[in-house]
Amino acid sequence: MAQVILYIIIAFIIFEFVLSKVLSALNLKTWDNPLPAEVKDLYDIKKYKEARDYAFANFKIGALSSTLSLIFTIAFLQFKGFAWLDGIARSYSGSPILQALIFFGLIGAATTIISLPFDLYQTFVVEENFGFNKVTPGLFAVDKIKELLMGVIIGGAIIALLTFLFGWLGNMFWLAGWITVAGISVFVAMFYTSLILPIFNKLTPLESGELRTSIEKYAGKVSFPLTNIFILDGSKRSTKANAFFSGLGSKKNIVLYDNLVNDMNTDEITAVLAHEVGHYKKKHVLQSIIISVAQMGIMFFLFGWLASNPIMAEVLGAKQNSFHLSLITFSLLYAPVSLVTGLLMNLFSRKNEYEADAYAKETYSAQPLISALKKLSVNHLSNLQPHPAFVFFNYSHPTLLQRMRAMM
Ligand SMILES: [Zn+2]
Repeated sequence: MAQVILYIIIAFIIFEFVLSKVLSALNLKTWDNPLPAEVKDLYDIKKYKEARDYAFANFKIGALSSTLSLIFTIAFLQFKGFAWLDGIARSYSGSPILQALIFFGLIGAATTIISLPFDLYQTFVVEENFGFNKVTPGLFAVDKIKELLMGVIIGGAIIALLTFLFGWLGNMFWLAGWITVAGISVFVAMFYTSLILPIFNKLTPLESGELRTSIEKYAGKVSFPLTNIFILDGSKRSTKANAFFSGLGSKKNIVLYDNLVNDMNTDEITAVLAHEVGHYKKKHVLQSIIISVAQMGIMFFLFGWLASNPIMAEVLGAKQNSFHLSLITFSLLYAPVSLVTGLLMNLFSRKNEYEADAYAKETYSAQPLISALKKLSVNHLSNLQPHPAFVFFNYSHPTLLQRMRAMM
C-alpha cells in the first residue's frame, strides 16, 4: 500500500512538471504573434526583441533548475532519502522536537546550497544582462544571511511549537496548530511594514509636495484611513517598480517603490494608489485573509486525521512514524489539492483586480491607470499577449490588454 501511494505521489510530481513545461512552451510561442493594436506602440522593435530574449532566458534557467529539482526529488523519494535523514536526526537526539528541528534543518540547508547557484545566475547573469539588477555581491550576501536567519528563527519556532502540540495533544493537535499558525500569519500581515520590510529595506516617509498632496486629497475624498506614505528603496536591488499598501484595521500604510516615483507622474501614481484603495474598499484584503485561514483549517484538520497513521512514515521508507515524516508525506499528498486551490485563488485574485481597476476608474480616472500599467509592463519587459492557458494557471492579475479593455 505504502509503495502504491509513493508511486501516485511521484506520478503527480511528474504530471505537474510536464504541465508547467507545456504551459511555458505555449507561452513562449506567443512572442511570435502579431501584437494587438492597443499595445502595438508599447515596445519599439529593439525593446520588443529584448523582452522576448528576457522571456527565453528565464525559460532556460527555469527549465534547468526545475528539471534538476524533479530528478533530485524523485531519486530522494525512491531511495528513501527522508528515512535516511530521519535516522540521522534520531541518532542525535531522543526528543521529537529536536529531531524535527535537525530533520528540517538538514533539508533547509541542502535546499539553500542547491538553489544558491541558480539564485546567483538569475541575479548576476539574467537580471544583470537585461539591465534590471542593482544588487551588489555584498548586498546579495547580506540578504541571503538575513533570509536564512529569519527562516531559522521563524521556521524553527513554528516547527518546534507544532511538534510540541502534536506530542501533547495527539490527533486533536490540529485545532491548536491551526490557531497558532493562523495567528502568526495574521500578525505578520498586520505588521509587515513595521517588522519585516525594515529588515531588508529602508522606508522613508514621502516628503510633502505635489505627490503627497495629490495622494492625501484622494484618500480624503474616498475616506481611506491613511496613516503613512513611505518610499521604499527598491532601486538598490532592481529597476523593477511596484506599489502596495499594508496593514489591517485602522492603520494603513502605503508603500511606493522609489523606481515608481521616478518613472511615473503624480496622476499615474495616484491612479495606482486608487487601485490599491479599491482592494481595501471592496474588502479583498479581508476576504483573502479569511479564505487563507479557512484553507489552513482544512489542511490542519486533514493532517491531524492522518498524522498518526503509520503509513505516513512507510510511504517514505521509514519504520517509525514521527511528526516531521508525516508532515512531509502530507505535503506531498496535498499537492493536487494545492494545485486546485491555487487555481481558484488566481481566479479570485483576477476578479478582484478587475474590481479594483473599476474602483479606480470610478473614483479617480481610468486613463492615468492605463498609462501607469503600460509603463509597468514595459518596465518589467512583460509579455503583452501571454497564452490564455498560461494566464489561467499562473496569473494572479489579468493581462494588460484585458485590463485596458475592461476599463475602456
Ligand atoms: Zn491589484
